[in-house]
Amino acid sequence: MPLEIARNDITKMKVDAIVNAANESLLGGGGVDGAIHRAAGAELLAECRTLGGCKTGKAKITGGYNLPAKHVIHTVGPIYEDGKHGEKALLESCYRESLALAKENNCETVAFPLISSGVYGYPKDQALKVAIDVISDFLLENEMTVYIVIFDKAAYKISEKLFSDIAEYIDDNYMDGHTDYSSERIRMNALPSMAPRKRRKKSEDDFLEMCDTMIEKIIIGKRESKHAKKGVKQKIRILFKGFGELNDLMCV
Ligand code: ADP
Repeated sequence: MPLEIARNDITKMKVDAIVNAANESLLGGGGVDGAIHRAAGAELLAECRTLGGCKTGKAKITGGYNLPAKHVIHTVGPIYEDGKHGEKALLESCYRESLALAKENNCETVAFPLISSGVYGYPKDQALKVAIDVISDFLLENEMTVYIVIFDKAAYKISEKLFSDIAEYIDDNYMDGHTDYSSERIRMNALPSMAPRKRRKKSEDDFLEMCDTMIEKIIIGKRESKHAKKGVKQKIRILFKGFGELNDLMCV
């Protein structure tokens, strides 16, 4: 049940389905939506025209046409106002509905962009937290490989730091302190170039603290869950990959 956080252009990913951060018309737009339509070709737009749009928080599936991916799952993320207008619940619903559609269509590998975190303005750290939370819950019950694709420069700068801090977190807190969880296998493919330790900006500190909490919840907290009580063996692998590594893996 691996969850992989990857740096890539989602249109290049050879997976069963990529997820599109679409708008309610499903007729194309900017950002990742525009990139997906450009790469897939006019047939994608033609199929989208038959779908009658899509409500915020919902998802619909089409073919992938000229993309390396077999399917595109179009989901409409919320426009972020102030976090008090149901944005989180709607964003969670995007991930849940997309994963359900992927499952219905027998997809074994699915790649998500950080939905709503571009033009729609959802803060990237919170958007990432929602993505990891919902996907990891899903992976506890389902066999699938899910990628969260981090694309842009700003997120990459944060993620470089995040990768090294998570590697340290696991070294310090997991490998030594939790050897009893032998069914768990965590592989870290750290980025080749780790950012040097510099004084962090406050927002970056907050982000990293939040990531520690998330990783702790995913790796350790789930042990307390109903799944553990049922004796289901859990394997969550969190892999971090840079462009080169992911291309090696995906473009076969
Ligand atoms: P939204 O309107 O839902 O915010 P955007 O397309 O503006 O959608 O942005 C969603 C996320 O997708 C952003 O984090 C953006 O950096 C990222 N993104 C843009 N192009 C690509 C791409 N080709 N591959 C993967 N992610 C992308």
